Amino acid sequence: MIEFKQVSKTFRLGKREVHAVKDVSLTVEQGDIYGIIGFSGAGKSTLLRLVNLLERPSEGSIEIQGVNVTSLSAKELRKQRRNIGMIFQNFNLFNSRTVAGNIAYPLKLAGTPRHEINKRVEELLRFVGLADKAKDYPDQLSGGQKQRVGIARALATNPDILICDEATSALDPDTTADVLRLLKQVNREFGITILLITHEMEVIQSVCTKVAVMENGEVIESGGVFEVFTDPQHGTTRRFIRSVQ
Ligand code: ATP
Ligand code: MG
Repeated sequence: MIEFKQVSKTFRLGKREVHAVKDVSLTVEQGDIYGIIGFSGAGKSTLLRLVNLLERPSEGSIEIQGVNVTSLSAKELRKQRRNIGMIFQNFNLFNSRTVAGNIAYPLKLAGTPRHEINKRVEELLRFVGLADKAKDYPDQLSGGQKQRVGIARALATNPDILICDEATSALDPDTTADVLRLLKQVNREFGITILLITHEMEVIQSVCTKVAVMENGEVIESGGVFEVFTDPQHGTTRRFIRSVQ
């Protein structure tokens, strides 16, 4: 379970302050596939970067499995980061490493023994359907295949949480559907909680169990996807749903 407790994040740019996230309280249950939607600049990526511990909140706290991750020591922080995988719109693969090398990377960082790394990489390659691509380089792969490598790499350290920031935005509809099927499988088979930012309503409707709508740093509405989409309480939610359909 991930609990945001009155979380705010303010960036200072010289004299100017940007309130990227404002007083967000939200509970994500273990096993949820939670969608985060909202117009550009609403604070979605910042909110997820806070979970990922890439940013620290200016106020409030975030608890993961009951542990307040905003007050961890550097050592505990490194350990906690391995509990959270992340995939990105532009895949963020290392082009100078093979597919296997990309997937092995987080395990090397974690100091995993060589033979265990090889075994885990093989398992993950099979899981994402790329067993025959181990020795290829990212620029030899299609977008969908690159994102499968991204997913395999994110899963390497057996995380409880997977964060996806616009992970299908660069993909065509068929490839998007493929990647979403894989994410559902990740959620179902391993019980991994998924937090997912998207601009695509089909993505929310086809995979998410819950959704939160953000505007100006705040979560203005959240709940089950069906409830929020069939009976939106907030004008911005209605506008957002209309604008992207
Ligand atoms: P998009 O849909 O365009 O990706 P978003 O909802 O992900 O938008 P964020 O990237 O979280 O929005 O940004 C929220 C606000 O915080 C924006 O006004 C942005 O300019 C600001 N912001 C984000 N990161 C920083 C930073 N490192 N320094 C200063 N301001 C930032
Ligand atoms: Mg963003």
